[in-house]
Amino acid sequence: MKHESQALFPIVQGGIHPQLRRDAARAIRGMHDWPGIAIGGLSVGESKPDMYAMLELLHPELPYERPRYLMGVGFPEDLIEGVRRGVDLFDCVAPTRMGRNGTAFTSAGRLNIKRAEYRTDDRPLDESCDCAACSRFSRGYLRHLYISDEILGLRLLSLHNVHFLVSLMRGARNAITADAFDSWASEWLQRLASAPESQT
Ligand SMILES: [Zn+2]
Repeated sequence: MKHESQALFPIVQGGIHPQLRRDAARAIRGMHDWPGIAIGGLSVGESKPDMYAMLELLHPELPYERPRYLMGVGFPEDLIEGVRRGVDLFDCVAPTRMGRNGTAFTSAGRLNIKRAEYRTDDRPLDESCDCAACSRFSRGYLRHLYISDEILGLRLLSLHNVHFLVSLMRGARNAITADAFDSWASEWLQRLASAPESQT
């Protein structure tokens, strides 16, 4: 049965075994001219260098003109590293799960709203963000909502985190179009890694 309105992406598996990954990619490509190809079985506990190595190995194996979807990856630095290795699409629970745990992604790294230092902080979560949470509410108020178990606090942090990632990927797209992705990526990775709360 043919579904014109839906795009079926097969999933390349193979863990962190180079030969299995290569075999899976080639077998899948041999079956059909797929509208896109997903990469599964990564971001499941392996080291980041192992994940990056698999993406690099798959880069020449996947069709250049079709989107590649890396499943289950959603931290800012991983998105940038993924795009750097040819990935086009992502999905992940990270922005909403982190939001529910009181953590916000920001352009200065992760911010844990539970910390006492934000109690009377009038600044938004991220001064460069134009989301509904940052344009209306202070860190102090968001912390108050979180500490008071008000569900709105979790929703606002989740909303900010999703908005942050979408904006980050818009920035990546603009940098690629301007042929400036490498410097854009290095700058962002440095910023995210140097942040004091980046390990939160
Ligand atoms: Zn925001």
